Amino acid sequence: MYFTSTRSNLNVTAAQAIAQGISTEGGLFVPSAFPALSSKDLENLVGMNYKERASALLSGYLTGFTAEEVEYCVNGAYTGTFDNELPAPVFSLNGGRHILELWHGPTCAFKDLALQILPFLLTVSAKKSAPDKKIVILVATSGDTGKAALAGFADVPGTSIVVFFPQNGVSPMQQLQMTTQKGENVAVCAIEGNFDDAQTGVKKIFGDENMKRFLEEKNMEFSSANSINFGRLAPQIVYYFSAYCDLVREGKIKLGDSVNVCVPTGNFGNILAAYYAKQMGLPVKKFICASNKNNILTDFLNTGVYDRNRPFYTTSSPSMDILISSNLERLLYHLYGNDAKATAALMKQLSQEGRYEVAPEILSTLKDEFYAGFCDEESTQTTISALFKNDNYLCDTHTAVAVKVCEDYRRESGDETPCIIASTASPFKFAAAVLGAVDSGKAPEDGFELLEKLSQVSKVPVPAPLSSLKSLEIRHKSCVKKEDMADFICQFLQ
Ligand SMILES: *Cc1c(COP(=O)(O)O)cnc(C)c1O
Repeated sequence: MYFTSTRSNLNVTAAQAIAQGISTEGGLFVPSAFPALSSKDLENLVGMNYKERASALLSGYLTGFTAEEVEYCVNGAYTGTFDNELPAPVFSLNGGRHILELWHGPTCAFKDLALQILPFLLTVSAKKSAPDKKIVILVATSGDTGKAALAGFADVPGTSIVVFFPQNGVSPMQQLQMTTQKGENVAVCAIEGNFDDAQTGVKKIFGDENMKRFLEEKNMEFSSANSINFGRLAPQIVYYFSAYCDLVREGKIKLGDSVNVCVPTGNFGNILAAYYAKQMGLPVKKFICASNKNNILTDFLNTGVYDRNRPFYTTSSPSMDILISSNLERLLYHLYGNDAKATAALMKQLSQEGRYEVAPEILSTLKDEFYAGFCDEESTQTTISALFKNDNYLCDTHTAVAVKVCEDYRRESGDETPCIIASTASPFKFAAAVLGAVDSGKAPEDGFELLEKLSQVSKVPVPAPLSSLKSLEIRHKSCVKKEDMADFICQFLQ
């Protein structure tokens, strides 16, 4: 097994794919083949705990890693870092709907499942490809990724992390999550500008020759914790298997039964991980791709036309406000029979014209595998409210989008196959919108009072990582102009 680029026939090892993040010609690294699980392997997973499942599944991809190295990564990531004994527990609603709660980690959103282990995967990988070099992670964030990456990389030996966020572009709670971050190797800085300015600035620094020399002298190199890194995708495969095994263990399904998987989707990373799980042998019948008002994926999966020439909406599920779903490139590559030329041509069209159309036979495969739907702002609110009233379950805005689209699918298709619904954030992370859906009273303005109020109304305790922010010291107060981002990094690394 090796990794190849979606846009060329370049081959690299797992360690290189993870250390490098993205291929030199802009393609994404994909496995040359999927590790296949027999029904006996699947049965064995049922008897394991989460860490054992993770080790078993990840080693299929991490060729070149020793068993000890895989275990070191898994233990480092999932020991004592999640508020639940199970990092990804399943909560069953009526009607065979099973909520896969992916928000029990340190930042209360699903990105923790991957960003808790990425630092370990990355440092082990770098040791193989560039020993003794210190890795400097650069992140531009619109909120969630920055904090999840900080929490993952804080005080990890051999790494430093620098996060830039737009001064007025993240929620007060998200800003507090980042500016109170502890760790000797972390730097957090606001920039005068919006998210695009931060993103462009970071991209520029990645390619800057002066910066490259500065890092070389210090025996350091840049890397990225972005979701296109295969090291972020692989850990997400684990929780789909884990959820399935938990359902078998609890007698809710039988080993070998098919399930559907419904995912609230933005960059297409989380749902692609579920697709990878199926390629490895997880019996998934249908993937339900749930979008918010930015429904570019709904249109694509229904028509075969991907067209980003459309308005961008800001919604109550902001982590899905995306018009370019980067990881879709990987799916296209696989569906075109691992054809790098065809994939590169589509991606070129996307960057030049903002649009591409897949061949009719590809569309037909897409329709066999995927159902796509979207949920507008009003339905997001009514879904949160109905779920709370009827099932006594409090969910966040992103999860509500998935629950609603799952309902639509069941009504339209009559398919009652048990469904695993990915729940990507704690309701407290998007407390204002959630409280508005479940309580008609006047909402408090202060962020912490809002959390308390939501807790009172729902009788669900505020997650400790959010409530504890109140008493934490603000450690990062810098704010720089976008031209000064490189200087900020140099000063920090001195
Ligand atoms: C990032 C994120 C998503 C979207 O996940 P993708 O892998 O980009 O599809 C959904 N919900 C929440 C809460 C997120 O943070």
